Order: sequence, then C-alpha cells, then structure tokens
Amino acid sequence: MQIADRITSMPKYLFAEIDRLKWEARAKGVDLINLGVGDPDVPTPDFIVNAMVDIVKNQPATHQYPEYDGDPAFRRSAAAYLKKRFSLDVHPDKELVALIGSKEGIAHFALAVANPGDVVLVPDPAYPVYYMSAVLAGAEPYLMPLLEENDYLPDFAAIPAHILRRARLMYLNYPNNPTAAVADLSFFAKAVAFAKEHNIVICHDNAYAEITFDGFVAPSILEIPGAEDCCIELYSLSKPLNMTGWRIAFAYGQEKLIAALRKVKTATDSGPFTAIQFAAIEGLANPDATIAGMRDIYTARRDRVIALLKSLGLPCASPRASLYVWLRVPEQFPSSQAFSMALLASQGVIVSPGVGFGQYGEGYFRISLTTPDHRLDEGLERLRNFLLESKS
Ligand SMILES: *Cc1c(COP(=O)(O)O)cnc(C)c1O
Repeated sequence: MQIADRITSMPKYLFAEIDRLKWEARAKGVDLINLGVGDPDVPTPDFIVNAMVDIVKNQPATHQYPEYDGDPAFRRSAAAYLKKRFSLDVHPDKELVALIGSKEGIAHFALAVANPGDVVLVPDPAYPVYYMSAVLAGAEPYLMPLLEENDYLPDFAAIPAHILRRARLMYLNYPNNPTAAVADLSFFAKAVAFAKEHNIVICHDNAYAEITFDGFVAPSILEIPGAEDCCIELYSLSKPLNMTGWRIAFAYGQEKLIAALRKVKTATDSGPFTAIQFAAIEGLANPDATIAGMRDIYTARRDRVIALLKSLGLPCASPRASLYVWLRVPEQFPSSQAFSMALLASQGVIVSPGVGFGQYGEGYFRISLTTPDHRLDEGLERLRNFLLESKS
C-alpha cells in the first residue's frame, strides 16, 4: 500500500506534542486553560441562530444540494456587503464564489493557479493552510519570513530572481495571524505592483478585517487600483460574527481566478448548506452591533493581557487587530516549544508556541483572546506565577 508523497511530505504537526501533554493532563483531571486556540468563545448572535432555525424548519428546499458557487441571493448579499464595507464593485455571479469557510478556499486555490513544480510564496510564521495548499497542488512553497524588524511584512526585495521566475501565487494575510500585525493601503499597493511586475497572483486572506481596535479600519487589497487584474481576497464570517462552526465565507476578485476556483470546487464539493447561506445573509445585513460588541470584549481582554505582561517585564506592543497577542519567549527558555510545554506542565495553561506557525515563529509565542473573561484572568494569574517562579 502506498501513501502519496504529498501526504508523507507534509510538515510534522508541531502542536502534536502539546496536544499529547494536554490529553495527559486532562486525563489526570488538571483544570486546563486554553489560551492557544483562536476560536471565538461567544456564541453566534441570536438573530442569526433564530433565522437558521426558521429557515431549516420552513424552507425544505434548503435541504437539497446547494448550488456549487453559492446561492445567488447569498452572493448578491456578499457583494452588497463588500460595496458598503470597502466600496468595492464586485459582480455577484462572475467575481464572487461562496466558500465552506475560507480554509476551504485557501486549500483549493493553489490547485486553481499552480502547476506541479511552480513556486507558491508563503508567509512564515503563518496560518498553516497556505503552505499546505501549495503542497497539495504539487507546487513548491517558498517561505517569506515575517520579521519583527519589518513590522511582520514580507520583504519582496529579498526573494531571489530564480524563485520569482517560477512563482505563480503569493498568499498574504493582514490583519495577521499569528503576529497581530496590520498592513495599510501603501503596503498593499506595493504588493500589487510587485505581483504585476512578476506575473504573480495574490490571494489575500482578510479573515480578521473586522477584528480591529482603537479605530483602526482594515482595508481590502482590492481597494488598490489594478488589484482586480491579479488578486482575489477571502472574507470569512467566522471571526466577525462568531460563526466558526458554521463554515461560511466567500472569495471575490479577478474573474478568471474566481472561475478557476469555482471549477475546482465544482469538482470536489457542493456549496455551503443553503440554510447557512440564508442565515448568513441576515448576518451580513446587520453585522454592526455584533462586531462592535466583540471589539469591546477583545479590547478589554487585550488590555488586561498587555498590562499583565508589562508588570512582568514582558512589554509588548498593543495589537491593533486580530485575536492574538504575539510576543517573545522569556529569555530563560531555550525555545517556544520548551516554554509552552513547561507552562502547560506547571500550570495547566496552554499557549501556542511560535514555531508551530513556521520556523520564523521560533522565539515567540501567541496568546489568544478567545477565552471567557474569568478564565482568561485565571490563566493570566497562572502565567504570572509561572514566570515569577521560572525567574527565581
Ligand atoms: C480563523 C482564520 C481563518 C478563518 O477560517 P474559516 O475557514 O473561514 O473559519 C482564515 N484565515 C486565518 C489566518 C485565520 O486565522
């Protein structure tokens, strides 16, 4: 029996060791606090849940196979949202496709644009799916380091010419997971100009567009004139509307790229459950109160995390977006993995080691803000004890 090279060559799952410790601790009855995972703890708003219940009960047509590229009503609603939110003119039939979560769109997109042997430019540290999509397509991932001294933006000038000749696709993600960095329109203008010069397609993952603080407004890469020639963007309802479990997102942008993605999807899956699309229409029509409420919750949590870190002599810039605080591992620990495992073993607190997001994440760790307030406070108290102990 053979297992395909693309599977056996996939990078080792770097959270596996932490997961093993987690299960051991849980079996022993340890009260674990998970500050590792980025998954909103607040439930989906009632108005969306209620719409869903009503639709499932009263619209049996939604129980049948969905349209491959999403219901036309959902696509129109998504396009109207993009117009209101980013002033984009996106054609709902030609330039937009519904996704079963943006993870699905990311994983499939390399199949739509990269041939085996092509290079896919992947940020590092990053959400692991960009790398995986290149591997699944038989393409060659090339890592673009996101370094603190560059504000976690890739340095395009550092990519060698022989790589650029073979590069067909670049993934970007701002506001960024895991570094919490943001990008402004001048960065996106540079990225689009670079992509055009080298005949590269950009897939921008805008999953955290609404998880922004202190008045920061995250842009769309498609606001850049000419971006519609070579870019697509992914927008997910997961984070802004606490809908991670529902699996609903959409891709939009360059028409031929969207058509190619639609073709991959038509060959591999159906669209999202139509009832979920209809409930999502309600969410897209009235997102503001939910988003404002979530911003308040995350801002307060962020401020508590930053204040504690500061009091412990671990200063860290206050993030302007995302669900994460990203900071250096205290110097007495040899690696992010060693730090995370020691914290888990000693205090039952889980944080994500930076190396789990790629080699350039080494030396950092990530605290997620998606834990209920009292548990976050308890987790921070334990982190304080751990750091004070480990210093002495
Ligand atoms: C959470 C997250 C997403 C959202 O994925 P969905 O599949 O839409 O739930 C996408 N990209 C990044 C970087 C994320 O952290």
